[in-house]
Amino acid sequence: MVQYQTVVGLEVHIQMNTYSKAFCGDALSFGAEPNTHVSTISLAHPGTLPKPNKEHINKGLKLALSLNSEVNKVNAFDRKHYYYADSPKAYQITQDRLPICVGGALEIELADGSKKNVRIHHMHMEEDAGKTIHDIDTQYSMVDLNRAGTPLLELVTEPDLNSGDEVLAFIAQLQQLVRYLGISDGDMEKGSLRCDVNISVNPVGSKILGERCEVKNVNSKKNAKAAVLYESQRQIALLEKGLTFNKQTLHFDPESGRTSPMRDKEDADDYRYFPDPDLPPIRISQSEIDEIQELLPALPWEVKKKMKEQVKLNEYDSTILSSDKKIADYFFNLLEQKANPKLLANLMINKILPHLNGKEMSSIEIEEDVIISFLSLIENEKVSPSTAYQKLWPALIDNPSKPPKDLAQSLGILQIKDDGIISKIIEEVISENSVQAEEYRKGKKKVFGFLIGQAMRKSKGSAAPDVVKKALMDALHN
Ligand code: ADP
Ligand code: MG
Repeated sequence: MVQYQTVVGLEVHIQMNTYSKAFCGDALSFGAEPNTHVSTISLAHPGTLPKPNKEHINKGLKLALSLNSEVNKVNAFDRKHYYYADSPKAYQITQDRLPICVGGALEIELADGSKKNVRIHHMHMEEDAGKTIHDIDTQYSMVDLNRAGTPLLELVTEPDLNSGDEVLAFIAQLQQLVRYLGISDGDMEKGSLRCDVNISVNPVGSKILGERCEVKNVNSKKNAKAAVLYESQRQIALLEKGLTFNKQTLHFDPESGRTSPMRDKEDADDYRYFPDPDLPPIRISQSEIDEIQELLPALPWEVKKKMKEQVKLNEYDSTILSSDKKIADYFFNLLEQKANPKLLANLMINKILPHLNGKEMSSIEIEEDVIISFLSLIENEKVSPSTAYQKLWPALIDNPSKPPKDLAQSLGILQIKDDGIISKIIEEVISENSVQAEEYRKGKKKVFGFLIGQAMRKSKGSAAPDVVKKALMDALHN
């Protein structure tokens, strides 16, 4: 029997977080009152003219450079024609002939640790449409044009993905990248990142791609993975029955986990693409490219590598601490202030991040120098690690500006390491338990544990156990 493999290519729409729209000064307005960010340009009044947005272009260049994509130093806008109520111009401004960049790749890492390079076909700039809303009135559909003209980048991959898990990993990696670059919030629930998933199957080893279907507007990583699984199985089942199918546009229903036909896919000819006469070509100089390259932050995979190789964190810790740029910046910032790397990593992963519970790193109410003091209490063995986590951390959350040392003092958890204090405790323990001490000296070694217990109790649990042990040993052997 023929073994089939799944082949997937993605078209990802990324909403830029620019201040204003792609071709006019209307502010971006997620969640605003409907139709409040709609100038005459957004509404396509006659006589209005679009103007390119430098921030749109620069953010596109940032993503292009971080994917090693080749920038088209001359790129240009085209019109893609279609009529729909959410698009008053009856065309979309996009880039067809000369996109902002071509080629490049994004490396993804799979659960088993293996890596895969996913090639980028090209990326182009375009504008988003408005929204039609069908569920707030029984009789009419509503149109909100706030989103019309929002700057998008569309990234198109080569058909290099071969499973739902790879698709999920790709979207996650891209999401992390755009957040690091600060060009988009990448939130799929808000529609800031949306995917069209092209799926086909072909016999394993075959170089000829099978007929594909395109699942439109998938709005979560989980749904993208589910759509790939469902659709590839549907196609394999047809082929195994000896049936063929046509290229089709599909909708994925998360409820049922199934795909269903939307419309026959238009060919490029149907859109009557032509150069937008209102917008001259965009020219990008080498010095502009160099400037943007200079300003690129360390990329997520570079940050992770640094954590592993220079800071010597393990794979798990590096993955978590590099997941978000603000978390990584916080980590490196505290390292510069001489925090112990491993202790800091542990504290962030086990206490700080769970405490923030998804909120931004910057919302932490404890100052950096207080965190540093907290860590040095552990590092200098003033407080044992487990007591620091179980007692001192909760106290610090309640009193974020109190010096941790004072808190530890008032909780009575500062470890006593002072030889003088501990010798005195041991002396008392031996004189109060002279019978047991004598037994020990005569060879009943089991009594040692009992005497340690007495000493710890006398210090209210705050004596450092290793110091107590040594002092007791010395005293009994004298
Ligand atoms: P269209 O012009 O119909 O949009 P493109 O050639 O631009 O098609 O490809 C769009 C996307 O579909 C790309 O991400 C590409 O990798 C993917 N793709 C093309 N052919 C296949 C196929 N046979 N199987 C899976 N994905 C494919
Ligand atoms: Mg396409």
